[in-house]
Amino acid sequence: MRYVVALDQGTTSSRAVVIDEQGRAVASHSNEYTQNYPKPGWVEHDPYDIYYSQLGALKIAVQKAAIDEKDIAAIGITNQRETTLLWEKDSGRPVCNAIVWQCRRTAPYVERLKEEGLEELIRKKTGLVPDAYFCATKLQWIFDNVPGARERAEKGELLFGTVDCWLAWNLTEERAHVTDATNASRTMLFNIHTMDWDEELLRLFNIPRCILPRVCDSACVVGTLKPEILGRSIPVASLVGDQHAALFGQACYEPGMVKTTYGTGGFLLMNTGETLKESASGLLTTVAWRRNGRTEYALEGSIFVAGAAIQWLRDELGLIRTAAQSEEIALSVPDSAGVYVVPAFTGLGAPYWDMYGRGAIVGLTRGAGRAQIVRATLESIAYETADVVRAMEQDSGIALTQMRVDGGASANNFLMQFQADILHMDVVRPQIVETTALGAAYLAGLAVGLWQDEKQLAALWQAERRFSPAMQEQERARRTAQWKRAVERASGWAKEE
Ligand code: ADP
Repeated sequence: MRYVVALDQGTTSSRAVVIDEQGRAVASHSNEYTQNYPKPGWVEHDPYDIYYSQLGALKIAVQKAAIDEKDIAAIGITNQRETTLLWEKDSGRPVCNAIVWQCRRTAPYVERLKEEGLEELIRKKTGLVPDAYFCATKLQWIFDNVPGARERAEKGELLFGTVDCWLAWNLTEERAHVTDATNASRTMLFNIHTMDWDEELLRLFNIPRCILPRVCDSACVVGTLKPEILGRSIPVASLVGDQHAALFGQACYEPGMVKTTYGTGGFLLMNTGETLKESASGLLTTVAWRRNGRTEYALEGSIFVAGAAIQWLRDELGLIRTAAQSEEIALSVPDSAGVYVVPAFTGLGAPYWDMYGRGAIVGLTRGAGRAQIVRATLESIAYETADVVRAMEQDSGIALTQMRVDGGASANNFLMQFQADILHMDVVRPQIVETTALGAAYLAGLAVGLWQDEKQLAALWQAERRFSPAMQEQERARRTAQWKRAVERASGWAKEE
């Protein structure tokens, strides 16, 4: 048996998963690491925390798997996207902490871009809606605030990278300064039509080209793991952003296939094949992956609050003790008795895009209690997801027939059944829900010939449970209309303070 080790460098933890030729997770290990919040709205990671927590997870996972290191065919890397690092080429020393994707410090930079009317240009070239999430303004901030950084960058003394790139540089003997097309597509500096760094955007953001990494395929041997790490030289054979990895791990290889990850937030990606679809609904156009020089694209929509709404029921309202308990409480009543919860705690995302939206509970009557509110909160996750799915169908011109799911809240059978009902399509949960690690492992395995093609991988994917729609069409239409009315009530709330 041969294995691939996937490194899944996430926002709160670094994880390593050992995956065998059959696509089974044999062993894994996770290390949490420190989040730094130097000011309200600012989020930073120490780059060495990222590296060492990941290195530790790798070593322990391999130990737990009790396998011979010579049977490890490749290492794959998947990562939190958009987090921005800049380090010294000679010493490897970071010039400052990593600015995490969540960090809002560059919101004023983005406002300025919008005032200058650059939104459309950026959207056309990068597929992104200008936002502080992406790397470009974070890099600008570093150049504006770290003394000497710009001069040193222009002299070629510094290197920029996202987390995949930072890990590859530190883990490989060659000190490979590389990223893949998915990670590059989240920088707001990469042209997804030409598939290269965009000269006009580099000028606009005043970024010297010499600091940028080489952009590789997502499945590609980028270097060799330093032999002192596992006692052997092992190819590092994939770099890929986490959501893209999950789409690959879910075997969504055909245009029109969609996966939804129900984590703290919700992430939907639709494969649109080799066609780049522009969105009219505020979805992002992104690179799904690039393999053998061939790019496939995806539409992406996020939901700010998914599983977080269940945490709110538990931690703020105290209505449930555990997230899992929400299922039995929801099922203890026949319906939500007309109650709708809109969990717009941080505004409304696609397709509403209303940063002044705030949470609301509407439709309360004297008989509505704990169970109805718990049920309505779970239902809200399904309604929000359905809104994004409909936007994707509209933007892509593809009518969906089913959706693949993963993430913590996909364990909730009530939620999955209600999702199938409201979408009027099958919702399918795979046996292996570690799809992010699986996707990185699959890409790495393809690069070294452990697997031959997507067809072989698609055959490894197995459904654990399929939820089929059972709700009457009339009922579905009525509830969806009620949800829209509830959203209207919550919209713009904070604007009228
Ligand atoms: P992340 O990767 O964002 O940390 P996970 O995929 O680990 O998220 O999922 C955690 C989220 O899933 C939490 O917000 C939690 O409330 C929610 N969750 C976990 N189990 C259930 C469940 N059985 N029903 C509903 N929500 C759940």
